[in-house]
Amino acid sequence: MATIGIDLGTTNSLAVTYREGEVELIPNGFGEYLTPSVVHVSDDVLTVGKIAKERLVTDPENTAQLFKRSMGTNEIFYLDGEAYSATDLSTLVVKQLVADAESYLGEKVDEVLISVPAYFNEKQRSATKAIGQRLGIKVERLINEPSAAAIACHKIGKDESFIVFDFGGGTLDVSVVDCFDNVISIVSIAGDNFLGGSDFDKAIAEDFCQSQGIDLEKLDTKQKSSLLLSSERCKLKLQKEKLAAVSLTYDDQYYMKQYTQAELKSIIQPVLDRVKKVIGRAVSDSGYRAHELDAFILVGGSSMMPLVQSYITNLLNLPIKRLKDMDELVARGLGTYLAVKERQEKVKDLVITDICPFSLSTSTYNEQNPDLELSTVLIPKNSVLPTSKKMTLRTVHKGQTKVNISVFSLAYIACP
Ligand code: ADP
Ligand code: MG
Repeated sequence: MATIGIDLGTTNSLAVTYREGEVELIPNGFGEYLTPSVVHVSDDVLTVGKIAKERLVTDPENTAQLFKRSMGTNEIFYLDGEAYSATDLSTLVVKQLVADAESYLGEKVDEVLISVPAYFNEKQRSATKAIGQRLGIKVERLINEPSAAAIACHKIGKDESFIVFDFGGGTLDVSVVDCFDNVISIVSIAGDNFLGGSDFDKAIAEDFCQSQGIDLEKLDTKQKSSLLLSSERCKLKLQKEKLAAVSLTYDDQYYMKQYTQAELKSIIQPVLDRVKKVIGRAVSDSGYRAHELDAFILVGGSSMMPLVQSYITNLLNLPIKRLKDMDELVARGLGTYLAVKERQEKVKDLVITDICPFSLSTSTYNEQNPDLELSTVLIPKNSVLPTSKKMTLRTVHKGQTKVNISVFSLAYIACP
């Protein structure tokens, strides 16, 4: 029986194991480490991963992607006339990763560690844990993605503070993480759930349409998908080559435009401006000044872009700790954690502490304006977990014997 780690990503997912003293990424059936988090169903045939991603072009109506954003919500995805929740779809991805792992390892997987964004709330975490119940696999623990990335980069015994910059396909998560001795603790978290590599693709697609006199909104789902994939390919190609093209067949006509790296830079500038805001928030919430931090740890496929790297390093004048495996780093950290679990000598005493990324508040009576309730914060965001707080509140009405206590979580709102 084996335990594996799963980085269940918005765009791509990975599985990892720890064998014979080494962290080992598990290849899928194609011999690749990254499995696209995409599901396609048609004529009762279900595919997950690379083949499903290809169906985004040929059959987008029956293909689901980016469903991690909807974990813990009631959002329904319809594939081949059937309704699926984000948990259903994520379960299919995990099932595929587990099957690939079992055939690679030659043994059954009975336990998994899954990484989740640090800002995931209780609903989103429960929805992730439910995957294990559905598959009959124990979810040993959920580990926050920035903690996993920091574990992968931190040398035990050293005191260092990092900005973990995780820029994936559809989300940006920035965390300040303190590592001292054997303790890894998240100090602050900021993020944008709707900012990622796909925004670069969209910006390129918009520029393409504008230059060709095409109305992007008039494209049907298939044409839009195809244009976005062509834009993504152009972006990826421009990382290595001077010129790359975007093309589209629309109304029986073939459109094509070449892009240079300089053009890409100006097209993506508005997206980078949004990145700046998130970094600013994470740093200011951490209580550190930028120069007191040691380095960036880059995570996620979009962090591989030299334009992104030069932008963020210039922004804070901070170096990058490690410039490889960005899209594997979370999985590698999970692998190290598996070693902790096995009590391997090297990493035996690692302690991971987390913070509450939200302010938790309750509603209280407003004397000035009884129609408008007040929100009273009990646990301020970024409190180190576990945490508890006592507060005495009184009833408003004479003879009142009951109160409703509601709990709200407020993300990214400054506490009093
Ligand atoms: P997630 O964490 O969201 O699951 P990843 O970390 O795998 O996703 O990032 C996927 C995103 O990274 C996609 O938008 C993809 O286009 C982008 N990406 C992958 N490799 C590169 C690269 N070399 N240069 C630029 N962008 C890249
Ligand atoms: Mg990721």
